Amino acid sequence: MDNQTTKQRQVLALKYRPKRFEDLIGQDTISTTLALALDTNRLSHAYLLSGLRGSGKTSTARIMAKALVCENAPTSKPCEVCQGCNSANENRHLDIIEMDAASNRGIDDIKELIEHTKYKPTSAKYKVFIIDEVHMLTTQAFNALLKTLEEPPDFVKFILATTDPLKLPATILSRTQHFRFKRISNKNIIHHLSHILNIENIRYEEPALEILTRAGQGSLRDTLTLLDQAIIYSKSIITVATVTDMLGMIDPLFMDNLFDTILKKGDIRPIITSLENYEVGQVLDEIGIYLKQKMLLNDVKFDIYVFDRFFKILADSKHLLSMNSDGGFVLILTLSKMVEAVSLHTIDEVINQVQNNQIPNVETQQKEIIIEKKEEIQQQEPKIAVPSINSINEVQVIEETPKVVEQNDSQILFKKLIENIYNKSYELGECFEKSFTYSSYENNILKINSVAQGDCKILLYKNFVHIKIFVAEVFGDETELEFEKIQKEATKETAQIVQSSYNNPISSMIEDIELHEETPSSCVAGMSAMKKPNLSQVELNIDDVLNSKMVNRAIELFQPKNPPKIKSKL
Ligand SMILES: [Zn+2]
Repeated sequence: MDNQTTKQRQVLALKYRPKRFEDLIGQDTISTTLALALDTNRLSHAYLLSGLRGSGKTSTARIMAKALVCENAPTSKPCEVCQGCNSANENRHLDIIEMDAASNRGIDDIKELIEHTKYKPTSAKYKVFIIDEVHMLTTQAFNALLKTLEEPPDFVKFILATTDPLKLPATILSRTQHFRFKRISNKNIIHHLSHILNIENIRYEEPALEILTRAGQGSLRDTLTLLDQAIIYSKSIITVATVTDMLGMIDPLFMDNLFDTILKKGDIRPIITSLENYEVGQVLDEIGIYLKQKMLLNDVKFDIYVFDRFFKILADSKHLLSMNSDGGFVLILTLSKMVEAVSLHTIDEVINQVQNNQIPNVETQQKEIIIEKKEEIQQQEPKIAVPSINSINEVQVIEETPKVVEQNDSQILFKKLIENIYNKSYELGECFEKSFTYSSYENNILKINSVAQGDCKILLYKNFVHIKIFVAEVFGDETELEFEKIQKEATKETAQIVQSSYNNPISSMIEDIELHEETPSSCVAGMSAMKKPNLSQVELNIDDVLNSKMVNRAIELFQPKNPPKIKSKL
């Protein structure tokens, strides 16, 4: 009973410290090599063990020492029953001398140790010196140690351990056999934890162990310390909830919810509110870990390109944090950017489509975007819509006819031309697309049907040189342009419904005024002009408006005295 109580009190890291080479976790290569060296009696006089804290260096050094003081030494399987093994297991063997270089780093400490090497072992075949954190020794101490390390008496074995081998002088490194301890894999650690919990008869949820392991960052000792803490905190069963709570981490279910919201472009405000209690740096780290897991698991919810974007966003945010930006701001920015990133098309996707000769698709896609933009602009700023000078108030309804029509190369090029002009100037592109439709392209002559009028017509005149350059770029330098003026009727590309109702050329110039129920303004290219007149419209006297100075000035402006030569062609 007494024994049992003592056992329970002992921390797990000590209680389950490996006693044999085969008990070492995740360091198979090293334990195999050392075991072989012992069994074949090919021992070096000095070993250097380096690696992350808690990766098993000290345990290995002690097992090695026990293997050298056992009655059967040297052996890879110490008998565990002899006096030597027992003393070694209890850390009281006189021939195993452990020194912590972190607290005994001076030349005097090393001189004392060297003095010890001169005396034969008391009971064992070997005298083993374990120097932990050896990189902490002073330069003089290292120099003092060199000679002994190179040519110690036959019965002396050195085992040096360090977390930072790069700090060791080359002279030391060249006199030792160096074993580099790997970071223990999470899988190995989780397996070890579940093994211990099964022995201890403590219930647990597997994901809770994963979280503990992650928090231990590859150090078995640190993870076991956390497990000790979790056992106390959880009382009866170690759950994800208790572990995340204990570590101050974010519940994985919350993360699932967070990314569900982001991927659906939902409202992230409640999430930001609930993350207020966490440190933003930690939140970013956990998001990173979560995404890494999802990526490795090949989660179908996430597009592979989305991962790329998310990681870039996280990297940017961490950079911002490192510059002491406000945490709350960085968090909001990060999540907002992630929501935005979900819907972007990748460059690669577009390239792939082009490579697969799906140019029309790309064009259609872009066209859709353009049309959307158009509608937006028309809604927001009705003034941009083009008024007519030639005649009449008109309501233009632009209908996008479905693109089932077969498209030859020239038509595709014509679309490309429109796109290029849009890129140069949105306004010009819009006028071009509205006024010109493709007719034919033969013998380097591009025939275009034109319904150009009004402001658009003027804009197109002014930019005719640019248009020619664009045509040359797309169709080739030799290309000539021919325009054919056609009546405003429904064409293949664009159906324009023209309603003639008030026969005055300038009425449409008065953009802010809707004249009369029967004379819907042309300013609004949509149907909004058809609505009933309001009070201000009724009160206006139409003749006053038409004879006003402003209108007369506008007529002058839009009827240039010296029109450009190409006018006849347009
Ligand atoms: Zn033994």
